[in-house]
Amino acid sequence: MSYTPITADIRNRIATIPGLRLIDDPQKIEDYAKDGTPDLFHRPELVCEATEVLPIRALLRLANECRFPVTPRGLGTGLAGGSLPVFGGVVLSLARMNRILAIEPRNMIAVVEPGVLNLDLKNAAREHGLYYPPDPASLDTCSIGGNAATNAGGPACVKYGTTRDYILGLEAVLPNGELIATGVRTRKGVVGYDMTRLLVGSEGTLGVITKLILRLIPHPAAVTTMVALFPKLDPAMEAVTTILMRGHCPSALEFLDYRCLELVGDLLPFQGAKGTGAMLLVEADGEPERIQREIEAMGEVCLEGGASDVLMAPDEARRTRMWDVRKAVSLRVEERYPLDVFEDVVVPLGRIAELVACLPEYEKACGMTIYCFGHAGDGNIHLNITADSREAAPRVEEGVREILKRVLVMGGTMSGEHGVGIAKQRFLPLELSPESIRLQRAIKLLFDPNLILNPGKVFT
Ligand SMILES: Cc1cc2nc3c(=O)[nH]c(=O)nc-3n(C[C@H](O)[C@H](O)[C@H](O)COP(=O)(O)OP(=O)(O)OC[C@H]3O[C@@H](n4cnc5c(N)ncnc54)[C@H](O)[C@@H]3O)c2cc1C
Repeated sequence: MSYTPITADIRNRIATIPGLRLIDDPQKIEDYAKDGTPDLFHRPELVCEATEVLPIRALLRLANECRFPVTPRGLGTGLAGGSLPVFGGVVLSLARMNRILAIEPRNMIAVVEPGVLNLDLKNAAREHGLYYPPDPASLDTCSIGGNAATNAGGPACVKYGTTRDYILGLEAVLPNGELIATGVRTRKGVVGYDMTRLLVGSEGTLGVITKLILRLIPHPAAVTTMVALFPKLDPAMEAVTTILMRGHCPSALEFLDYRCLELVGDLLPFQGAKGTGAMLLVEADGEPERIQREIEAMGEVCLEGGASDVLMAPDEARRTRMWDVRKAVSLRVEERYPLDVFEDVVVPLGRIAELVACLPEYEKACGMTIYCFGHAGDGNIHLNITADSREAAPRVEEGVREILKRVLVMGGTMSGEHGVGIAKQRFLPLELSPESIRLQRAIKLLFDPNLILNPGKVFT
């Protein structure tokens, strides 16, 4: 694909659009050349910050006229390179379009602009006794617009579902500059195709999300946390299935494998995790008395299933420390290894242990070390695939490809949260049929015939 560079003339025309703030200082522009994905770097020619809709419309119309690419960006924490401008052009930052427009307690909805920080929305909803559940681990650094564009998830998904389940409606500027409203402000609505669901998870390739109407629920009164240590991974995963099959409703059901425990076990607020085969981190939220019974019952399931220890977090400080351990895995892996590839595969619930058990085969063949942790209750496993030297990259790439194929044979999918962006594009034909790719490319062309919005991502 070839695009027009941002010439002085185009830059001047962009500068005349009221309401756009231009960033063209080369040093500041560097900040927009990367996101949360290691080793990806694509420099924009120009960055524009928008705080309202009209300038976004004008920018996209100009982009079509002159044929330069525009790449939407929230807060740049993505893990698939989705906000990086692979063909240069303009990065459109929505970071400052960050107002919470309304919280309507009686309707249990929030109306927000895309740049609102996930955590800010949670806190604002809480003031009204309401709860916005989607909780990516990056919630204090990522935007609701970015969450919508990637359909972000997190530990709470096991009980509450993903971002998609909370978006009732959207406003988005289409690549041709037209503004559309999709969905509803109500709890139900079946008029027309579900455009909201199409835009959610489309990774900024079909429209720039400028407003979101979000469903809120009552804030749980309390939360309680437990950790269970198991000598091996298999019984831990059996316990996960049993917990869910018995009708318990954990608000988080996370696991760490033995390698992660070796790496971060010292951070736990108790002794004895090192040398353990697996750890489950389980939470329940709701009425205090009910969740106390619930967490104890889930603890019983773990003990029946062979857990060597079940430890409750009796206070907020210890709860935080348990979660810090889970969050520290990626940081420590990153510090230790010069090569670190993240994958976030999903397998059917009952097959996590089977997948983890087959990984040593790939480790041996490709000279890599794999750390496994993640959302056991969703079958969503984060794999930190590492090697001691950057020269191992081609072998690691081969190993990743083989693991993804295995995941697909098991009935899984190659990404549960992070999306395709540019990081997984080359693997897409492993999962999607040529007909599905053809149809999805046709949808992209219908929205964006000149391929000016976030080109080079997912299908383009
Ligand atoms: C430490 C860390 C932990 C993470 N944990 C999780 C996790 O638990 N779960 C999870 O799902 N993700 C996680 N992520 C990934 C990332 O935080 C999410 O993908 C998040 O949703 C991205 O939001 P953002 O505002 O940073 O978007 P960006 O990175 O800026 O953009 C992401 C994508 O969305 C598009 N986009 C952004 N805003 C808009 C808009 N307004 N309109 C249209 N398109 C737009 C971009 O073009 C790009 O394709 C993590 C990342 C880090 C660094």
